[in-house]
Amino acid sequence: MAKEEHILVCLSSAPSNARIIRTAAKMADAYSAKFSAVYIYTPDYEALSTEDKNRLLAHFALAKQLGASVETIHGEDVAFQIAEFARLSAVTMVVLGRSALTRKHLLGKTTLTEQLTKYVPEMDIHIIPDNTIRSPYHPKKVRRIRKKDVIENSLKSVLILLACTLLSLLFYHIGFTDSNIIMVYILGVLVTSVVTSHQLYSLVSAISSVLIFNYVFTIPRFSFAAYETGYPVTFLVMFLTAYVTGSLALRYKDQAKESTRSAVRTKTLFDTDQLLSKATEKEEILEIMGTQLTKLLRRNILIYACDEKHDLSVPKWYLCENEKVPDFEPESEREIVRWVVEHNHSAGAGTEHFSSAKCYYLTLRVSDHIYGVVGIEQGENPLEAAENGMVIAILGEAALVMENYKNAQEKEEAALMAEREQLRANLLRTISHDLRTPLTSISGNASNLMKNGELFDEETKQQICKDIYDDSMWLINLVENLLYATRIEDGRMVLSIEPEMVTEIIGEALQHISRQHTDYSIVTDCKDDFLMVRVDARLVVQVIINLVDNAIKYSPKGTEITVKAVAKGAFAEISVTDNGIGIPEAEKEKIFEMFYTGSNRIADNRRSLGLGLYLCKSIIEAHGGTISVLDHVPHGSEFRFTLPIEEVKLYE
Ligand code: ADP
Repeated sequence: MAKEEHILVCLSSAPSNARIIRTAAKMADAYSAKFSAVYIYTPDYEALSTEDKNRLLAHFALAKQLGASVETIHGEDVAFQIAEFARLSAVTMVVLGRSALTRKHLLGKTTLTEQLTKYVPEMDIHIIPDNTIRSPYHPKKVRRIRKKDVIENSLKSVLILLACTLLSLLFYHIGFTDSNIIMVYILGVLVTSVVTSHQLYSLVSAISSVLIFNYVFTIPRFSFAAYETGYPVTFLVMFLTAYVTGSLALRYKDQAKESTRSAVRTKTLFDTDQLLSKATEKEEILEIMGTQLTKLLRRNILIYACDEKHDLSVPKWYLCENEKVPDFEPESEREIVRWVVEHNHSAGAGTEHFSSAKCYYLTLRVSDHIYGVVGIEQGENPLEAAENGMVIAILGEAALVMENYKNAQEKEEAALMAEREQLRANLLRTISHDLRTPLTSISGNASNLMKNGELFDEETKQQICKDIYDDSMWLINLVENLLYATRIEDGRMVLSIEPEMVTEIIGEALQHISRQHTDYSIVTDCKDDFLMVRVDARLVVQVIINLVDNAIKYSPKGTEITVKAVAKGAFAEISVTDNGIGIPEAEKEKIFEMFYTGSNRIADNRRSLGLGLYLCKSIIEAHGGTISVLDHVPHGSEFRFTLPIEEVKLYE
């Protein structure tokens, strides 16, 4: 199989670069080759004018638009970095512009093409001729010069020169040779380059050193003439040594600065990664993104959250410490943000859409899902391409975390829905089964009475009527429970709270208990006849009915069931105790869940819905009370619940 072609185009801020990118893209298309673009950030980048920086950004965008994967590298030796990149990414052809061919480097270094050929001799290098350029492009360098810096740096340089001269005078008087004095001056230039911020100071310092050395120390002294024939060479060597040493020191300083910057960036990216991995809420994710971006870019950041319907929230500023407070109203650019969301495309300052905006706006998205818009205040300088890359990386990651969070939420909702569906299905199944048994029995008994009424003796008739009554009572209670349960589920339960007498509530409940209670002895124990609670009586009656019904269901006939009420602080504690089979420890927590029926089986299988205790718990908790189950010694169970007491002052 033929080796896959991989074309690499080198990006620059030169105006002709756009044409080169297009040509390279065409070549990539023709060869069906992989297409990459690379830009090497050298310390010189800082000195580029805003115009050049903007042009460079436009070239990044163009390359991306034409299908290139754009990479940026920080380094000093452009040719070496390109060569390394080409080697590691298996590039087969490099496309360069003419400016790269003609540009000479410091101290007469060879051209970029020659250097590239040296580093990667086997690679094809295509030079795109450009007739439109008469004079090769050299980016204009602008450094913001601050008066304070100039004075400070000049003062430092002069002081160092002065110190060197004084030391040299001392050496001269002691009788040291010229070479020692030259060394002192070289050291001076070196120190100057370290303590000042521009190469100019070491250059001036190197020239001044030579001049001072010539004026003060060479014979004839205090004149710029020099008798010895070798002196011009000495001066030249002295100048070059001083200057080159100084330049190297300065370059080293720049490099150190750059590596600190990139270390800080890497650390911020790493921190962001860590923080995002722990975030769970949408707001938290946006918060992390905002603060980390301000740290990384040292710019003010504006964030809009965006919901599913693409409605935007009120924007929130994340202000950078050193940056001044933004002087524009975010609302004035809301239209741009709307455009960004609608087109799912970045816009604003530094881009072709709405370039006069104060911010550069990007979407926080995973494919078509937009979670928000991030605005980066542009200020005087556009965003560096490397910074842009990092912003995109952070946004991409934050959007992914958002997507995961959303997916998890959707899954949870789906699970909840499925659970509800399951509940509904259970409810229907249970009800239809449970209703049929007593209804068949009621209708059977009733038709029996109608058809054969006169054949039965009085006792049998009574028994049949009692059965009909029991079954219908049971049905009424079931329907009542169901009604309350559905109301609680839907959140439709409205309590009508009134002061009520506990003894009356218990009495009312016992009247509704199934007639089987004649087989049990139901004892009420309420010492305080005037104990009053603030409750919805209908509901609390239902709680007691359910508890006593359960006690009857799960206890042998003839046993005692006690309903007791006592005041305990601000609450009345009501308990229903039976001497039945009791509840296994493992089930105690579950019996209050909806549709939970325990292992306790009773002969009458119609009465097991698992709804009664669930309803009791819901009702009691809605009143601000608690319900629990305990073992009754020696056997049986005790259900206890509390209700808030109504303070009444009698005989006032
Ligand atoms: P149901 O009685 O219709 O099954 P409940 O919610 O009233 O539904 O009760 C849930 C489960 O708790 C019952 O199935 C039973 O196992 C257990 N239980 C409730 N009350 C008692 C009791 N007094 N004695 C023993 N077990 C009980």
